[in-house]
Amino acid sequence: MKLKTFRLIFVGINLLFCFTLSNLYAQDSGDEPSFSRQDSLRGSITPERAWWDLTYYHLDVAVDIADSALSGSNTIRYRVLEPHSVMQIDLQQPLDISSITQNGKSLTFRREGSAFFVTLKDAQERGDLNELTVRYSGHPTVAVRPPWDGGITWQTDSNGNPFVATANQGIGSSVWWPNKDHPYDEPDSMLISVTVPDSLMDVSNGRLRGVEEHDNGTKTWHWFVSNPINNYGVNINIGDYVHFGEEYDGEKGTLTLDYYVLRENEELAREQFKQVKPMMDAFEYWFGPYPFYEDGYKLVEVPYLGMEHQSSVTYGNQYQNGYLGRDLSGSGWGLKFDFIIIHETGHEWFANNLTNSDVADMWLHEGFTNYSESLYLDYHYGEQAANEYVRGLRLGIQNNRPIVGEYGVNYRGSGDMYNKGGNLLHTIRQIAESDSLWRQTLRGLNRDFYHETVSTAEVEAYISEKLGQDLGRVFDQYLRDTRIPTLEYAFREGRLQYSWGNAVEGFDMPVDVTINGKPMRLHPDTGWKSKELDPADSYELIVDPDYYVGSFNLLGESK
Ligand SMILES: [Zn+2]
Repeated sequence: MKLKTFRLIFVGINLLFCFTLSNLYAQDSGDEPSFSRQDSLRGSITPERAWWDLTYYHLDVAVDIADSALSGSNTIRYRVLEPHSVMQIDLQQPLDISSITQNGKSLTFRREGSAFFVTLKDAQERGDLNELTVRYSGHPTVAVRPPWDGGITWQTDSNGNPFVATANQGIGSSVWWPNKDHPYDEPDSMLISVTVPDSLMDVSNGRLRGVEEHDNGTKTWHWFVSNPINNYGVNINIGDYVHFGEEYDGEKGTLTLDYYVLRENEELAREQFKQVKPMMDAFEYWFGPYPFYEDGYKLVEVPYLGMEHQSSVTYGNQYQNGYLGRDLSGSGWGLKFDFIIIHETGHEWFANNLTNSDVADMWLHEGFTNYSESLYLDYHYGEQAANEYVRGLRLGIQNNRPIVGEYGVNYRGSGDMYNKGGNLLHTIRQIAESDSLWRQTLRGLNRDFYHETVSTAEVEAYISEKLGQDLGRVFDQYLRDTRIPTLEYAFREGRLQYSWGNAVEGFDMPVDVTINGKPMRLHPDTGWKSKELDPADSYELIVDPDYYVGSFNLLGESK
């Protein structure tokens, strides 16, 4: 279920990739987006989705590596919210559904692109807990450039063993299994059963419940997730893995840390993954307890860069610090940590715990997680390191289109959701003035929206309330506009005159400055304000560089 309120469903509210960079910008260079009926079927809470609330999935899939094919079933359990007789299930071509059954009866269904509309035979009474089973098979889309495009990656390791993984953020989990492919609803728990050749291992989300051996040279690995899980986080990873693990003594007790890496990389992994415990220290400090103690934490090596798969974070950063060895901030601090370990794990709090209810609000995942990188630095290297890192990331901001996307059509906002989202949060930290209050706000988000799907509006209201300031115009400015506000000012006759320019109507963000070395907080808005200054021969105003704003002295001199 994992719904905050059902109100969200009925108002018809109206990735993604987990990284910065080129693929996101590729989508940003286009003209005004146009949307199809398929976009609405995928991206909105259609009447055929709204009436039922997911409670459980059992995905049972056999992976035929030689044929690059899948076959299996998904049993979907749900609670009836409103009586209805047609249900929408999503599965992308070229996969196909062969049968759907409920209570032993075969059901008819109609396909419209990636949406299947199933006609139910039995009455669906409000409050009933029902289930149906969808059988499917085919050759799923092959990922060409995972995780950017999504699908299945069929590779081999350096010993010639199969190395297979799914990644489907953006394109959607329905690229390889049938489900309710919209983020607003999540099952309360899930069983993932994956059948693979008996020489290989499957690692999925949650905890290993058991391994079944068959007499045809295959094994079935059963992984159980005991918490709500977003469907894009569900994954299968198949390889010749070795396993090692340790335990973390965290805020909620003992957290198991399990690592699955290719046999050939065990030594490298044992060294690189030493970053996990100090990372947990930093994230639990800033965000509160790891949100899935029951399911444990895993790092799983994959043949692509990585992804925030819930409780089985996938890793392909080549056992080096930075982002494939590079510092995205240019500050030097980005080489102090393995970007994929830190960033993808940050998503356990922002993406997997608190999840966007529409991908238009995906900055809730990427902005906060971008920001988590700097908080990791803050915890281990101090605030100056964090400040330099966040400021350095501004070089990657394009201000090409708003961070918040279009609702109801599966359309995310600008790739600026990463670096600009992080800079917005860093700016709000300055506004808060109290790091203790700011930390309690971040922890509060993870506590009060624990295992929920949320909207930007809810998070905005929450932060404003906790900080005791209406930040509505601040969020509008940075999330829904592309202009960077500029503090325009002039010194005249011993007074400072100042105003926000290049800003949304009513923009009223406070800002910290020093004038002739004396720190003060200004409260500009979009009209002119005036402030008397101590007498001086000349004046110099410096805006606190940790605010993501511009500044401009209108008179160009400081008399
Ligand atoms: Zn990310």
